[in-house]
Amino acid sequence: MTEKKGAKTFLKKLVDIITFVDLPIRKKFMLFSIGVLFWFVIMFVISITTIIDINSKSSEIVNKIMPHDRAAQKITRELQNLNLDAAEIMNTNDIKDVIKRIDASKLRIENIRNFLATLLIGGQINDIQRENGKLLESFTVQSVKGDSAAEKYVNEMTLITDDLTKKVEDISVLKADVLNKGVKHDGQLEKEMAGFKQQLLNAIYLSNEYSAQAVKLYSLNSGKIKFAIRCTSFTAIGVLFIATILLTVFTFWIATAIAKPVKSIIDQIRSLGEGEVDLTKRIEITSKDEIGTLSQDFNELMEEIHGMATFKKVIEEDESIEDVYSRLGRVFGENFGLYECVIYEVSNSQNKMRPVYPIILDDKEIFCNDEILQNCNLCRAKKTGHLISSITYPQMCKQFRTELEKVHICVPMIIGGSTGGVVQFLFDKKYAEAGKKDRRIYKAEQYIKESLSVIEAKRLMNTLRDSALKDSLTGLYNRRFLQEYTETLVAGIMRRGKNVGLIMCDLDYFKQVNDVYGHNVGDMILKETSAIIKTSIRSADLVIRFGGEEFLVLLLDIKEGESFQVAEKIRNSIQEAKIKVPDGILRKTISLGISEFPLDTQGFWQAIKFADVALYRAKETGRNKSIRFTEDMWKEEQF
Ligand code: GH3
Ligand code: MG
Ligand code: MG
Repeated sequence: MTEKKGAKTFLKKLVDIITFVDLPIRKKFMLFSIGVLFWFVIMFVISITTIIDINSKSSEIVNKIMPHDRAAQKITRELQNLNLDAAEIMNTNDIKDVIKRIDASKLRIENIRNFLATLLIGGQINDIQRENGKLLESFTVQSVKGDSAAEKYVNEMTLITDDLTKKVEDISVLKADVLNKGVKHDGQLEKEMAGFKQQLLNAIYLSNEYSAQAVKLYSLNSGKIKFAIRCTSFTAIGVLFIATILLTVFTFWIATAIAKPVKSIIDQIRSLGEGEVDLTKRIEITSKDEIGTLSQDFNELMEEIHGMATFKKVIEEDESIEDVYSRLGRVFGENFGLYECVIYEVSNSQNKMRPVYPIILDDKEIFCNDEILQNCNLCRAKKTGHLISSITYPQMCKQFRTELEKVHICVPMIIGGSTGGVVQFLFDKKYAEAGKKDRRIYKAEQYIKESLSVIEAKRLMNTLRDSALKDSLTGLYNRRFLQEYTETLVAGIMRRGKNVGLIMCDLDYFKQVNDVYGHNVGDMILKETSAIIKTSIRSADLVIRFGGEEFLVLLLDIKEGESFQVAEKIRNSIQEAKIKVPDGILRKTISLGISEFPLDTQGFWQAIKFADVALYRAKETGRNKSIRFTEDMWKEEQF
């Protein structure tokens, strides 16, 4: 099993190497083409070598062997004719005929000599008919020099020819003596003729042998040609076969290496379109070429989609909108390295914006002029609803504090058609100088877009909750809020070991306002009173509309006795306030009862009751005063 597996990985590695797995596709195909070319070159070289070989052999046949053979044949022919002439010379006694035959013989020998001379140096052999001087045949022969057998033939033949010339001379003299003088010289002529004939026979033998040699050479060369053709055919078929197999296998491997990952990408995209996709599924990266890069990019894309989908799910389940902002801020940092960022929440109804991430941020520590917090339309991203980048246009937003040596990209959060928030990303100035195009912002924008619907829903929930817990006339928290908040408040106070000051306030003779000026004016007084109370306390303190014209003030983490001073501050402010009403100006007074939790009692609601008791005492004893609860009041009242 493991052996099989090992062999498989080995084969895979081999295929990877052979198919140049990590080279770019262009190079891959270039090398592939070079491979194809290689086989073409091999085929070409084989063909050319064979052609050259065949050509040299056939040209040897045509230019050397055949002409030499023909020349030898011509010499043989002349020698045979010489034989006939010799017989005739011996047999005839007609002097004229003898002379004719002797002359013819000499010419024949001359011809032979010429043929041999031409063979020796090479050149044109002209076969001319003796009777009429007609050119019978003309062909070129190459020199026999260098060819030892041929040279030997020519040399021997030349010697024989010389001898034959001499013998013809002797014969002609002897025959003339016989015919003219009747002198027979003791059979000298016959002897001479026999020698002549013997030489002829020798020459004919030599020529025939030479011809036979040529025929042998001819068949040897043509055999070689046949062999070469056969070899080349077999080699060509073999090479073609190997090349075809290799090219087929290569084409298959390369095509598979490209097609396989592309197919899985296509499949993923299709299932993405059909909504049946496993976002955690990754495409196997098998190469470092373009396909590998494509797979990697695709995997990253899937990861992003998966990350985004998971992110959306998580923020949907987040408890509060603050959690959503924090998570968003953390994602910018952890996923994209955009650690410096501020998220602002915009309240269009109040024309305000406030930093909600990071939570520890002090209003003064923001990177913009803090006027934008009170007038959010000063923020350019909020106002325009467009991405504002001081990298693209330096000092694009006047509110950005230039002294901080930073650059910013502000992305508006468009919720329900208007800007519901702004995400500000900050970078060092040298980042802007580098002029980098940042895909991270683009990705962060995707996350912002994904979170918008969740933020909108959570904000809507908050508004609904606020409307249940807040009084619509004054905007103050209502008694229901206090009921919900008590547990947290008490736990915090106990943990910190601090006190809460409770001031119960009730406007004096308020009924009269309603009676004299009407309910509308009464409402105005209530609004104004709540505003005055708020300005008299710290922002961490709480004001609750406890009843019709009763307000409960919670002073957090107060020192013993301090509550009375705050109550007096409220009372004085109300007393001095000139409240504008349609008919002129109204002045009102307020009575306040004070208790402190847990100083006065361990029960929070009991402490509220004590404050109410003290208020009752203030009313009873003349109004427009602050009275601190004392234990005796409780006993006296007998509640
Ligand atoms: P006292 O000095 O004893 O407190 O006299 P008072 O007239 O203020 O008496 P009380 O506190 O009993 O009167 C409460 C009045 O406040 C009754 C009601 O008409 C009025 N009131 C309660 N809620 C509202 C409100 O929302 N708007 C207006 N205009 N009046 C309210
Ligand atoms: Mg009252
Ligand atoms: Mg009252």
